[in-house]
Amino acid sequence: MSRRPVRRFRELGVAWPPVGTRIVMRRAVVLGGSIAGLLAARVLSDHADEVIVLERDDPDAHGARPGVPQGAQVHVLLHGGRVQLDRWFPGFSEGLLADGAVLSKDDAIHMYVDGTLKVPVADEIVSASRPFLESRVRARTLALRNVRLIRARARGLTFATDRVTGVRYTAEGDPADAIAELPAELVVDAMGRSSRLGDWLEEAGRPRPPMRRVGIDLGYATASFRRDGAPLGVSTVQSVVQPGAGRRPGVCVLTAVEDGRWSILLSGFADDRPTRDPEEFRARCRRLPPFFGWVAEGSPMIGPVVTYRQADSRRRDFHAVRRLPAGLVAVGDAVASFNPVYGQGMSSAALHASCLSAYLRSAPSLAEPARDYFARVRLVVDAAWQTSTTNDLALPHVTGPYPRGFRVAHRISDLILRASVTDAEINHRFLQVTHMRAHPNTLIRPGLLLRAMRADRGRTAEHP
Ligand SMILES: Cc1cc2nc3c(=O)[nH]c(=O)nc-3n(C[C@H](O)[C@H](O)[C@H](O)COP(=O)(O)OP(=O)(O)OC[C@H]3O[C@@H](n4cnc5c(N)ncnc54)[C@H](O)[C@@H]3O)c2cc1C
Repeated sequence: MSRRPVRRFRELGVAWPPVGTRIVMRRAVVLGGSIAGLLAARVLSDHADEVIVLERDDPDAHGARPGVPQGAQVHVLLHGGRVQLDRWFPGFSEGLLADGAVLSKDDAIHMYVDGTLKVPVADEIVSASRPFLESRVRARTLALRNVRLIRARARGLTFATDRVTGVRYTAEGDPADAIAELPAELVVDAMGRSSRLGDWLEEAGRPRPPMRRVGIDLGYATASFRRDGAPLGVSTVQSVVQPGAGRRPGVCVLTAVEDGRWSILLSGFADDRPTRDPEEFRARCRRLPPFFGWVAEGSPMIGPVVTYRQADSRRRDFHAVRRLPAGLVAVGDAVASFNPVYGQGMSSAALHASCLSAYLRSAPSLAEPARDYFARVRLVVDAAWQTSTTNDLALPHVTGPYPRGFRVAHRISDLILRASVTDAEINHRFLQVTHMRAHPNTLIRPGLLLRAMRADRGRTAEHP
């Protein structure tokens, strides 16, 4: 096992803001003003005279918006993402809590695997709805003196020989055929998983980044409930059900969020996707650890059950493109979007911002393709991809493609998960990885694996 990815991953996840940053360009343009675009803009504010974010949605809209249709679903902020938000915006999570987000700590967090409550570990989770969180990231980013947002739809890129020189866009309110151009030394694709950047590159006679997909056929359903009954003593509950005879695999989450609400997320695959029917939602909650049923039956539901379907996890391998133009990078879901049950998306986007900062601090030539940037991003994507696809590829309805060594990787990941149910040390290490604070290779050390085998044997002896 190579220690290099482990160390490089740790370096990208540091908590302190960079020092000694310097301006290396006049203007950077970010396409898409959601989590990844806003965090990229924050980083770019250290390196560009001017940063312009082009976003097609109304930034002042409340609640979920058309450009982020997943925004109505529960969004868990992993530790890795929280550390980066506090790094780029000092005091961010304190501000979030002061505004109404909910802090779950230690005993107030219950994690179940296949119906068994995991051994407790010291832990903290900050919970808020996705629009609430995003609005705070937007406010902090747009408060920077050299960042501004233009409401516009990006339509394409402008090129000169081997580099991107700017963006073509239609401003909000203009006719669709009114195309303006905005020159920039660096263009950032933050247009999410449906980004059309590949089409634009191809139209300009350049290769699109190769895309890898794992079909997961995932269904999500989220509903809100009033949180005004007797306190439950817990504020975040997660239930993971693994594939196995008679089981319905999936991850479900109950969490307290702002405005005195509970948010419950149910997930299921293929034929077992949850529907919009409130009665079915409650029935599913009754089959989960008790808190789900208590809330779903004992508290009034606010609004409808909102569903979402995601066909695949996908990644665009920019690092593999030979004729990549200079002046172009991509961040967030535009690079990779994973099965959301692992909650990695926003934290990955935050770590991509960290990659961008490391790249720009290395005094790169902007006349060259950003290969060093994409090499760093690859490390982050590989880590998240490893965690999510190793589990997804073991689901009965998922058909591959299976990477080399998949069986061994899955057996190890399964062993660690089982051992984490009873062994606090393993649970701690496991959480470091699933929360994107540590690289997955930290779990494949001989001492840890031996300990996991012992813990698993002990557990099997107790519950044969
Ligand atoms: C059901 C579901 C649940 C999830 N749960 C979690 C979770 O618990 N935790 C977590 O961390 N992540 C979660 N995610 C992932 C998370 O939503 C994404 O990873 C995250 O939103 C990625 O941010 P982004 O900025 O890259 O893209 P997006 O948030 O998708 O934003 C793309 C932005 O680009 C804009 N845009 C697109 N095209 C154009 C254009 N041509 N011109 C101008 N603007 C444009 C859009 O309007 C939008 O604002 C979940 C995802 C799903 C689907």
